[in-house]
Amino acid sequence: SLTSLTAPVDPLSALGAWQRQLRAQFPILRGADAPVYLDSAATAQKPQAVLDAVHTYLVTANANAGRGIYTWANRTTELVERTRERVKSFLDDPDPARSTVHFTSGTSEGLRTIARDWLTEHLRDGDEIIVPFADHQANAQPWLEAQRLLTARGVRITVHDMPYEAESKDYDQAALAGLVTDQTRFVAATHVHHIYGNDMNVHRIRDVVGPDVPICLDAAQSVGHLPVSTTDLDVDFVAFSGHKAMALPGTGAVWARGARGPAFTPGGWSGSPNTAGILSMEAAFDWLEAAGLENIDRWSVALGVRLTDGLARLDSYEVLGCPLSLTADSDVQRRQGIVTFRHRDIGSSDLGFILAEHGLMVRADGHCQARGGETDSSVRVSLHLYNTPDEIDRLLDVLATLDRRNG
Ligand code: PLP
Repeated sequence: SLTSLTAPVDPLSALGAWQRQLRAQFPILRGADAPVYLDSAATAQKPQAVLDAVHTYLVTANANAGRGIYTWANRTTELVERTRERVKSFLDDPDPARSTVHFTSGTSEGLRTIARDWLTEHLRDGDEIIVPFADHQANAQPWLEAQRLLTARGVRITVHDMPYEAESKDYDQAALAGLVTDQTRFVAATHVHHIYGNDMNVHRIRDVVGPDVPICLDAAQSVGHLPVSTTDLDVDFVAFSGHKAMALPGTGAVWARGARGPAFTPGGWSGSPNTAGILSMEAAFDWLEAAGLENIDRWSVALGVRLTDGLARLDSYEVLGCPLSLTADSDVQRRQGIVTFRHRDIGSSDLGFILAEHGLMVRADGHCQARGGETDSSVRVSLHLYNTPDEIDRLLDVLATLDRRNG
């Protein structure tokens, strides 16, 4: 019948077999009594292919990069340079010959590097920047630090808060248009919010700010979760965390487009690079692309929907962020695989401890929001392709025992 032809396919059943064979590739998650890892927004687990790549490197070619005349050193340099190009292709770079990739320990260091080595060099007296104070503090503090540095040099900068729509938690495009002036020199935004989980619709920012204003993207919660295309998004800087994209801890990078303004040449980096970490990013990106980022995205979004639907059936919980009515079936307001909620009576650290006792590993309490308050006492569940519908149901079962209705 027509209805069955047009009925939406449930990704959790359509992708079940695909997901099972991918999950099996995560050694840390093996075994019937493995705990349930629900904190991928903090850092992601690593598939065997990434561990293998690092192991092979360390037992066959470990040396320092960029300074050798012998095979291992040359091999290391080659792997680092290959990863630089891999970052570009992974981010769908429109002009890889002119862009630069600078390796960091994560998104925080990436954004700090952009602030220190690019922004402070490019701003002049009277310039204005627009940055997101309701997002992660890593995407607020570096810009304020740049302002302080410049003020000390006698250069006055105006820093505007990126405007938000109160209900949807999206950026407010109309209010943003009202802030843009001839003096606007830089806009920082976040691709996916680390607490509310919503896709911030950053592809709309270019139209609002015009062709010449550099846009910097905090892609900590999108790289490795969904396809991120710098070509489509038309941005100038992307900072991300390799470790949240299944590479080793202490990894990340800044990608900078060469075509708008002088290329980004970070000055603060010298010494020996994290070679094993860097090349783990190449392995992680290869693995993620082979797994399929579109399906990874569909899977974690569908798990998030299962969780929010389950929470909506309980009396005691409130989900933070965009109302679910706005996210349902909407391609404008999408909630990625991050769900943050609180219990009306139980404090979030208590809730976090109770969940931990049941082998459910979540993030509880503060979430590094630059302008905190609203989200301070809450529990965040963040999902990835290795999470399963059963894990969501296990979580919901425990949450149900703490619900008023059952209390
Ligand atoms: N930005 C966002 C949106 C994040 O979620 C995080 C992670 O916690 C960061 C920045 C900081 O990332 P990192 O710990 O890699 O510095």
